[in-house]
Amino acid sequence: MSDLSDFSKTLPQLETVDVESIPSGIEPGSSSARMKFGEAAPRKKNIPKGLWTKCGKCAELIYDKDLEENLKTCRSCGYHFPIAARVRLASLVDEKSFKEMDAGMSSVDVLNFTGVASYPSKLERYQKSTGENDAVITGLCKMGPHKIALGVMNFSFLGGSMGSVVGEKLTRLIEIGTKKKLPVIIISTSGGARMYEGMFSLMQMAKTCGALAYHSEAGLPYISVLTHPTTAGVMASYASVGDLILAEPGAMIGFAGPRVIKDTTQAELPPGFQTTEFLLDRGMIDAIVTRNQMRESLINYLNYFTAGMTKPKAKRAPRKKAS
Ligand SMILES: [Zn+2]
Repeated sequence: MSDLSDFSKTLPQLETVDVESIPSGIEPGSSSARMKFGEAAPRKKNIPKGLWTKCGKCAELIYDKDLEENLKTCRSCGYHFPIAARVRLASLVDEKSFKEMDAGMSSVDVLNFTGVASYPSKLERYQKSTGENDAVITGLCKMGPHKIALGVMNFSFLGGSMGSVVGEKLTRLIEIGTKKKLPVIIISTSGGARMYEGMFSLMQMAKTCGALAYHSEAGLPYISVLTHPTTAGVMASYASVGDLILAEPGAMIGFAGPRVIKDTTQAELPPGFQTTEFLLDRGMIDAIVTRNQMRESLINYLNYFTAGMTKPKAKRAPRKKAS
């Protein structure tokens, strides 16, 4: 409530500044008036931070609390804003059911990589800013009636890049999933392999896919969920080999960037190239699922996937008790 009263106090101030910033003697709608409006930047300066967010698609001003309640999606046009990995995780799993694995694992600077900044200094910076040790959170959890091995990537950590730690954490997750006969779900968002680890990061592509092949041989389902953006080495490995591939609306999904492809092929790219909707039309992904419907949809898909796996056990158990 205190936030709401703060808001109502600030709004009249904004309007006052706005009116004052319009010089007198200019007709509304005239070209000079429009020009002056453009120049009258003080309005922006006076919007308090952390109260309103402008929608990136429909330009609607959204009250931040409302945006958070709606899992960072616009109620007007459905635009999906970036969401923190832990918030996404909480929106998917049953409360207090998530048991994190390998949380303390962090990267080693095997190549002594130094560009503009050294790799260890970059790692330290992102560890401080995100509170995470690397770009993926993995663990076992419950999602409705299902026990799941779940990985959620974090774009805020070095662009969600896949180095040895991301690859190793996901591989261990998949292997535990295979051992415990659990479905695996990986929510991806990544700029690709982590260049600071060179060849070691590329090796994670084969390693994760190898683990997924064993998981698949055991007859267990793997659902890959693509969120904005999922590109390069991640899209070229575990993100694109799901038994079911879901994606959030409007996400950019691809391998190389559109400019590189355009320059290489010397061809105009079709409209909507590398978006979720474009890829659905061409069979690259199976379904577009909004963030608000993701948990429910995953549970429904898992009901189908595991129908043959769980039902016989459930039937057998009461019979034993009866005899
Ligand atoms: Zn919008």
